Amino acid sequence: MKIQTTLATLCALPLLISGLRAAEGVTGSPFYGDAPDEHHPWAIHDHNRPQPVVVTPGTFSSQDVPGQPPSDAIALFSGEEADLAKWESDKNPGEATKWIVKDKTFQCVPGSGYVRTKEQFGDCQLHVEWTEPTDITGTSQGRGNSGIFLMGMVEVQVLDSYNSPSYADGMAGAIYGVNPPLVNVLRPPGQWQSYDIIFRRPIIKDGKEIDTGYLTVIINGVIVQDHTPIEGGGGHKARSHPKAYPETGPLKLQDHGNPVRYRNIWYRPLPARSIEGGTSGYLTEEATTAKRKEIASDIRRDAAKLEGNEKTLRLLESLVYEKDEATSKQAEELVSKFISDVKALPADKIESKKGEILQFNTALQYLAKFKILAEDKELPQIVKANGWDKKK
Ligand code: MG
Repeated sequence: MKIQTTLATLCALPLLISGLRAAEGVTGSPFYGDAPDEHHPWAIHDHNRPQPVVVTPGTFSSQDVPGQPPSDAIALFSGEEADLAKWESDKNPGEATKWIVKDKTFQCVPGSGYVRTKEQFGDCQLHVEWTEPTDITGTSQGRGNSGIFLMGMVEVQVLDSYNSPSYADGMAGAIYGVNPPLVNVLRPPGQWQSYDIIFRRPIIKDGKEIDTGYLTVIINGVIVQDHTPIEGGGGHKARSHPKAYPETGPLKLQDHGNPVRYRNIWYRPLPARSIEGGTSGYLTEEATTAKRKEIASDIRRDAAKLEGNEKTLRLLESLVYEKDEATSKQAEELVSKFISDVKALPADKIESKKGEILQFNTALQYLAKFKILAEDKELPQIVKANGWDKKK
């Protein structure tokens, strides 16, 4: 580990000046972790792998004050009258909703119908807070009923389930008609409840379900749906079956005849899954090959701007992702020249080339280990002869 750290530092220095990822900051060493394979286009601890986008976190809500959304969230209701413009009647799209904004909350007016966002979106992280009236009346499904419909298709139930029993797959935190919540973690009516929902829509292609879709739901900080299969989406009395979802749809809030209030509604779109063209996670062989080709091409483009040993090392690095014949030939010629030059050095000059020799040796050993290039036996001998292979 100590040697690797030293090498990481040595290898990183030229990249700091002109590497592909120089603008994003150098984050590691090449020729380090296990190489890409047929399902993973990146090496382990790959320094070429892009850094995640920076998001400034929000703040948690208190009962009195809603929290701030994270910096990349899209606000759907932040407490302003102007937010009404983001919503419309579900029954009559294009018409303004009859729901009202009161005391910085978005309130269902019973009998006015569902409300839906003008914005359409699919897979997402969704945050919603809701509260029931303190003078709530009714029982079971008639007590504080509303609902959050992802894409307008599947309902995460909103209900007063605090000391108020109903059928389990219809309680707050249930995917209505599909699965009950793991626990009942509701606060009493009059207090704000928070929902954090992670939604992945079902994907059906050519009549075949390739992903059933999932909901993960957290109420008041406690998980109540753990990556639960959607099974089509549920409904009243009827068992649901897998069905095709479009790519996007509106978020709907239910009018079930009760004056439920909402606040602090925001979402963040989630990236595509690998099965639909995303490039994170376990990829198909075809997708992996395509991504590796793209990475190799980026690195070769970067190598073309470099000179000397930096160029050679960068070309060698591209072979980790794609063994291109022309690049292999070019890199091998440059490596041969490097080794010839090293061998021609007078004995008193070799120490001054130690860093570069170790870099090349690391690269060539790595490429041989993963059967990308044939093993070089000359540099290891030079390293050994100079005692550079010994731990200090
Ligand atoms: Mg409902």
